[in-house]
Formats: sequence, structure tokens, C-alpha cells
Amino acid sequence: MSRYVGPNCRFCRREGAKLFLKGERCNLEKCAFERRSYAPGQHGQGMRRKQSDYSVQLRAKQKLSRIYGLREGQFRKYYQEATRVPGVSGENLLRLLEGRLDNIVFRLGMAPSRKAARQLVRHSHFMVNGRRVNIPSFLTKPGDVVQVAEQSKQLEVIHESMRRSRESLPWLSVDKVNLQGTVLEKPSRDNIPTVADEQLVIEFYSRV
Ligand code: SF4
Repeated sequence: MSRYVGPNCRFCRREGAKLFLKGERCNLEKCAFERRSYAPGQHGQGMRRKQSDYSVQLRAKQKLSRIYGLREGQFRKYYQEATRVPGVSGENLLRLLEGRLDNIVFRLGMAPSRKAARQLVRHSHFMVNGRRVNIPSFLTKPGDVVQVAEQSKQLEVIHESMRRSRESLPWLSVDKVNLQGTVLEKPSRDNIPTVADEQLVIEFYSRV
């Protein structure tokens, strides 16, 4: 299955917002969105026409899938699951996305970006409840303990990321000394710092 390997900064410029896809670089002046906050391409600086409802919903969907780095097929499956279970579908969708192992590794501060977290997970650098897991989409649940595998505890990328990490979320506990973290509970919407309009995403899929 193919994966997009082009420049990620295009996504931020396309969506008109910083999506923080590149770790520390996103906080520096080098950030492409800081320098060119208009859409990429020949007509990127042209007059913006009024957007249709469909277009607004599509952009909300694209923005959210790009933040979590998911392809259309994967993302649609999360939507289907979010609408199948009880509760507010938009919040269910965000909770499912947040529960992915690559996202948990990122939120715990053990990787500078979700993309880096995904690569680290794929290379078997993490364990969940004492067992190696190399599937980025692995869905964690409350009580799960995510830790760096013994042989990977010297990895500089993990230490560097943890040194820089400032984020602390009430539904996760981090043990920086032992390089591990625990999922305490399912997050409420208020405690998910993703800037997105998830309800527009649900509306998008409901009509197609
Ligand atoms: Fe987006 Fe800026 Fe990070 Fe590039 S550096 S991914 S434009 S926030």
C-alpha cells in the first residue's frame, strides 16, 4: 500500500493552519507555514471564493486525517466504528484516534511527532503491558502501560524528545525515569488538544 512521501508542510499550508507534523521544527522560524501561510500551488495566493458546505466539511476531514497521518481507507474505518458505538460520534472518533499506539507514544513525549512515533513503533521499540507491539494502529485502553523496550532505552531520539516534551495530559501518566507511561482513562473532548471540528467530519461522511 502506498504512503504519501511528499513534503508534509504542504498540508499545513493547504489547510490554512499549523498541523504540527514535524516535531521541533514546527516551533521554529523555519516552519513553512510561518513563512508562507497561503495555500501551495500556482493559485495559492489567489482570491478565496466562498466555500460550499461540502468543501468546508471536506477540508475538516482532510485536516483531521492529516493530523493523525491516516489514509482515506483507514480514516473511514474509524468513522464507521465511531458511529457504531454509543455516544457522540465526533468525540468517539477523536477518542479512537487518540487511543492508537503511535499517538500515545507521541502524547507521552517519547517521539517528536506522530510520524516519528509510528516509525519507532514499527521498529519494535515499544512494549504494551510487557509485550512488544509493532502495530501503530494498536488500540490502547485504560490501564495499559506503554514502555520503551529494554534494548531501545539508549535511543537518543526518545531521550531528546522527552527532554523537550512539555505536554501533560490528565488521562496519561508519564514516568520519565523508567521511560514508560500509563493510559489512565479514556479522554474527554476537553482533554484532547487537537484543534479540529470533528462534527464536520461526521457530517462529511454522513452525506457521501
Ligand atoms: Fe506544518 Fe510548520 Fe510543522 Fe511544516 S514546520 S509541518 S508547516 S507546523
